[in-house]
Amino acid sequence: MNALIELFQQSLFFWLFSCFVVGLCVGSFINVVCWRLPIMIANETNEDKDNFNLSWPNSYCPSCNTAIKVSDNIPILSYLLLQGKCRSCNSPISPQYPLIELVSGCILVVIGYYFGVSLPFLFYSAASLILLALVIIDVKHMLLPDLLNYCLLWLGLLASVCDVSIAADDAIIGAIAGYLSLWSLYWAFKLITHKEGLGYGDFKLVAAIGSWIGWQLLPLLLLIAAVLGLIYAVAIGRLKQSQQPIAFGPFIAFAGLACIFAGDKLWQSYTNFIIG
Ligand SMILES: [Zn+2]
Repeated sequence: MNALIELFQQSLFFWLFSCFVVGLCVGSFINVVCWRLPIMIANETNEDKDNFNLSWPNSYCPSCNTAIKVSDNIPILSYLLLQGKCRSCNSPISPQYPLIELVSGCILVVIGYYFGVSLPFLFYSAASLILLALVIIDVKHMLLPDLLNYCLLWLGLLASVCDVSIAADDAIIGAIAGYLSLWSLYWAFKLITHKEGLGYGDFKLVAAIGSWIGWQLLPLLLLIAAVLGLIYAVAIGRLKQSQQPIAFGPFIAFAGLACIFAGDKLWQSYTNFIIG
């Protein structure tokens, strides 16, 4: 193990290449999570809930139900070799799978370059990949699974205790204040308009990000998320027909990434801009 760490430290190329390969494999797992977790949540009250989880049954083609061989399940390579089609029934495989693998690989390369071989690399990689999974699931299903929100929250608190991120008291107050800030917004909105503008998953996601950025950066997080959401709503002309809800989780997640990695700099630029 020590020899491997030494090798990583000696060769930046080898380190980043390894980050990329690990990222591809984790991306492959994220695909599994994004596909199966919403089904598992929908099945929760079902009798056959034990017959379907993250590791069971093995991966299979959704069109012909044929089990996918391990050799056909290699990130990106298998998709390219099979030319994007199932080996048994020739139905097209969604390009979402290799795309998510590629995005995860690139995320780990950037974080690997930024943090090098270190403990923060592990923590920040995990946080970014959980946020990626939350974005995908929320876009597709309007759902932010508790399992992922809580993982991000516990990881944020652990990072603060391990001196990887912010002070532990800032992280704890950040998580509580994060939850309460959206919870109060939700009830204010509901009392005034009698509509539900946000979901409980959104509160938990802000709480989880609060444990990474502390209470101090929560106003900035909500501001960036609101601006991003507004730009998106205007861009797709959704403001007029507001009956159709927009998933807000992805905007919170992107704002969270910005605050986790560059919160202090953004806050400084923002206050400079306001004060002049
Ligand atoms: Zn098939």
